Amino acid sequence: MTELHTRLLAEIEGRRQELIALTQDLIRIPTLNPPGEAYLEICEYLANRLRPRGFEIEMVRAFGTPGDSEKYPRWNVVARKEGAHKGETVHFNSHIDIVEIGSGWTFDPLGGELSDGKIYGRGTCDMKGGLAASIIAAEAFIDVYPDFSGAVEISGTADEETGGFGGVAYLAEKGFFSPQRVQHVIIPEPLNKDRICLGHRGVWWAEIETKGTIAHGSMPFLGDSAIRHMGAVLTEMEATLFPALAEKHTAMPVVPPQARQSTLNINSIHGGQPEPEEGFTGFPAPVVAHSSRMIIDRRYLIEETPAAVRQEMIDVLERVKAQRPTFEYEIRDLWTISPTMTERDAPIVAATSRAITEVLGIDPAYVVSPGTYDQKHIDRIGRMKNCIAYGPGILDLAHKPDEYVGVDDMIDSAKVMALTLKDLLGPR
Ligand SMILES: [Zn+2]
Repeated sequence: MTELHTRLLAEIEGRRQELIALTQDLIRIPTLNPPGEAYLEICEYLANRLRPRGFEIEMVRAFGTPGDSEKYPRWNVVARKEGAHKGETVHFNSHIDIVEIGSGWTFDPLGGELSDGKIYGRGTCDMKGGLAASIIAAEAFIDVYPDFSGAVEISGTADEETGGFGGVAYLAEKGFFSPQRVQHVIIPEPLNKDRICLGHRGVWWAEIETKGTIAHGSMPFLGDSAIRHMGAVLTEMEATLFPALAEKHTAMPVVPPQARQSTLNINSIHGGQPEPEEGFTGFPAPVVAHSSRMIIDRRYLIEETPAAVRQEMIDVLERVKAQRPTFEYEIRDLWTISPTMTERDAPIVAATSRAITEVLGIDPAYVVSPGTYDQKHIDRIGRMKNCIAYGPGILDLAHKPDEYVGVDDMIDSAKVMALTLKDLLGPR
């Protein structure tokens, strides 16, 4: 180990109080999404921190994306620090939004209280702790290796929790993640400090509607119940589809292991009359349901194609139709995201892996997320394949009451991120 290398790790250790204060500041900016509050405030905070350290700042509002309005503008910040020599760019991308607070908290959810080596608050783990760790890592690296090659970028982006369309997707469309501009991406989502997340499963959401004929509820034989048709769909799904999904296994190292197969969640079912408004005290009318709608959330594997996933559901519906003469249905695609998985020998994976081994003394685990995150846009729109999620925090705590991030975990992962920068951009 060179003297500078030792100094880099010591610098991170020495910035422990600064890391705590930075995380607390970020927690106290209430970037709740929906509706998308305080995005400008947090982007300005990040800009004001990074500008004096030599970063060029771009503030990017995602005009016209879902949820963007004068009241709730979708602001993003991209900070870029050029090195002394030509080289590659390493980009740290963190989402700045947090989900609703919910109930059950014993700590102030927006207080950022430090207790027993943990910082508590909504967004500590998912993922302002990761954002703070990446900032400290980048600043320490730049201070210790001022003549580094290439560039370091840090972005804070909106709306990850609601699909990322006003955040990473927008930036990717504007070229911020094109392979010409950025060669390595780390997303510091809370995947645990000893794990490298290579990607995620695919998603297909669709709405299935069964059709019926309305009639008086006292003479249901004069109508045709869309709800009974939907019941037949559910029966067929239980009999054939769910067992078939459980048989589809993947080579993707998805965690938890129960998600290492195809899954389907029925998000909602509605049939017949709409739910009465709150406070309405009357009775519903006696009618046969002429429509029933079901929203499905199908998570699929890198071994499956979107066309086959869709056809499998259509086959279920066609089997029901063959048994029920009046059965009619419609299927509407809502959205779809392809599975993505970065290769294990990709440069960002190899560099992060070496850094984890050095800092923690163990080999990293390679995992894939059951649900999607912003890597989808970096891959699909940005065409950037050298991307991972790596950051401090325990994934299971995300979105829960008394969410926290451990300060030691943030320090360790900041060391890993700094060593990864040194590996990719430092002196040879
Ligand atoms: Zn997150």
